[in-house]
Amino acid sequence: MAETETSQQQNGLQENRVFPPPADFAAQAAISGMDAYNKLCAEAEKDYEGFWGRLARETLDWHKPFTKVLDESNAPFYTWFEDGELNASYNCLDRNLTNGNADKVAIIFEADDGKATTVTYRQLHERVCKFANALKSRGIKKGDRVVIYMPMSVEGVTAMQACARIGATHSVVFGGFSAKSLQERIIDAGAVAVITADEQMRGGKALPLKAIVDEACAMEGCDSVRDVIIYKRTGGNINFQQGRDIWMHELVDGQSAECEPEWVGAEHPLFILYTSGSTGTPKGVQHATGGYLLWAAQTMKWTFDIKPNDVFWCTADIGWVTGHTYITYGPLAVGATQIVFEGIPTFPNAGRFWETIAKHKATIFYTAPTAIRSLIKASNADENVHPKKFDLSSLRLLGSVGEPINPEAWMWYYRNVGNEQCPIVDTFWQTETGGHMITPLPGATPEVPGSCTLPLPGIMAAIVDEAGHDVPNGQGGILVVKRPWPSMLRTIWGNPQRFKAGYFPEELGGKYYLAGDGAIRNKDTGYFTITGRIDDVLNVSGHRMGTMEIESALVAHELVAEAAVVGKPDDTTGEAICAFVVLKRARPSGDEAKQIAQQLRNWVAHEIGPIAKPKEIRFGDNLPKTRSGKIMRRLLRVLAKGETITQDVSTLENPAILEQLKEST
Ligand code: ATP
Ligand code: MG
Repeated sequence: MAETETSQQQNGLQENRVFPPPADFAAQAAISGMDAYNKLCAEAEKDYEGFWGRLARETLDWHKPFTKVLDESNAPFYTWFEDGELNASYNCLDRNLTNGNADKVAIIFEADDGKATTVTYRQLHERVCKFANALKSRGIKKGDRVVIYMPMSVEGVTAMQACARIGATHSVVFGGFSAKSLQERIIDAGAVAVITADEQMRGGKALPLKAIVDEACAMEGCDSVRDVIIYKRTGGNINFQQGRDIWMHELVDGQSAECEPEWVGAEHPLFILYTSGSTGTPKGVQHATGGYLLWAAQTMKWTFDIKPNDVFWCTADIGWVTGHTYITYGPLAVGATQIVFEGIPTFPNAGRFWETIAKHKATIFYTAPTAIRSLIKASNADENVHPKKFDLSSLRLLGSVGEPINPEAWMWYYRNVGNEQCPIVDTFWQTETGGHMITPLPGATPEVPGSCTLPLPGIMAAIVDEAGHDVPNGQGGILVVKRPWPSMLRTIWGNPQRFKAGYFPEELGGKYYLAGDGAIRNKDTGYFTITGRIDDVLNVSGHRMGTMEIESALVAHELVAEAAVVGKPDDTTGEAICAFVVLKRARPSGDEAKQIAQQLRNWVAHEIGPIAKPKEIRFGDNLPKTRSGKIMRRLLRVLAKGETITQDVSTLENPAILEQLKEST
């Protein structure tokens, strides 16, 4: 094949490699073949409420059945299954005691140091009941907010489930956040208790958690916190504040192993979770019990095609929505066995993911593009950590979430991790959407690298222009969802105006959910490709371009590991393209940097066209990322302009990198 053709293919939007589902996978899949998919879509089109009502009755156990599916009278404050009553923890645990799963392993816990332990459904039920009773003994009750600031652990999942059991609304704060970020979330949520650990283990090191809680609680405005409950993880030294602090094991000791679930209305807030802050100040996204749990369970069946013998592994932290839906709730609601991983992908070395898959015979593996890109870089440097060195034959399905996956990274994942046997589900969704929105179905959808393909049945995703009018396929625009769906956020905690204005803007008619991402649909297939955040659309001499296309072209170059593209004001072209690039090798400087930059500029011109040529290229050892691993282009925009950063950087992982990226090559 001529080189031009190959490189054209590598460019996300002109991708023409297609990977149909393997026949044996399709034959056993929950949704098998496109006809089955189309049939479900048609059912939703024809009778929207009937469709969702059927799924809700089939998928969840209701204490009191609902009589009305959807109420749109106070749009955009939609309600689902409102007069129904249920309990999320009952659906995740108690159901599994009577359906043959009681002695099935619910969680394989893989600790940082490689030690593995298992917990069955019966044991998890007992632990959650005891902990729920312990919370009640401290006066924590339905409607109270509880902040969870814990490491990846069975106890972390237990704490979330225990809150759900008693009807307390949890708000998990990722264990990498600072005291200041924790304080802000405690105040915003008005938390009555914080559940934490003495320390957490990450990459062989013990890092403080309780000390950070102490620091946060000592700051202004945290008076609402009456209890700090501490899980002993390492036994490291901590300060103990009498009357407020209590050890989890002491509190749980002697509690009854039975705890009648608190039956709550379907709209009862199950949790509040703050978004990553990639595009601005984090928002306290509020989710309801019934609709959220329905979609967590349903997408386990559809997107992950979960089967009784699967060993499911989602590598996300419980501090992110992915860890909520695809660790704490989804897998348990369908009675699956899953791996909960405490460690980091690079300890003791960058082969840890592959080693762990082989060790526990994981069948479904779900991770983020940022992890894949960094492991490509690592296995380039050291062949001993290359996935091909491990026995990954147990895998049958792979997944990606968090950012667009560049076609080159997709191909690497497909070939080296999936051995060209496993479908890849590139799942587009958000904290706000509660679960998957646009994704291939592994037994139905022919996959195209870099495209999240088609919306799930019942999800009315579309692309519109700035006035809310549909745009034809092949033309980029704004991604919206035209109808409410059960697992959508209900509001921004304490800020309904921000919810309404931010997600249902008047400019689009006030009825469409605005995702905040740009997208384009393929002319022939109708497949969706996410082109980047709306804020990140570039306008160069009147040409509108998504950041994703240029970034994927850069990543398709053999030297490049990662790239982020932003615009900066330019007198002649309106906006000029500035690219921040991480190479697979060490960061170049001086003449060499200039020479590689020129090479990359020519490459992009050749791949996409001269209009997409970056005016400026800066090299770094890394890019500024949120603690969930997403590139923070909003900070790069400021750096590109040569200005000082005054924005919210509370969720930035690696502040030192900003200094390095200030200078142009
Ligand atoms: P904030 O809203 O505070 O800026 P955030 O949007 O990064 O933070 P999340 O809810 O964690 O917070 O991330 C959702 C976003 O992640 C989506 O809007 C999209 O930009 C991106 N994303 C997630 N999955 C995919 C995917 N498969 N393909 C493309 N983009 C994805
Ligand atoms: Mg967002």
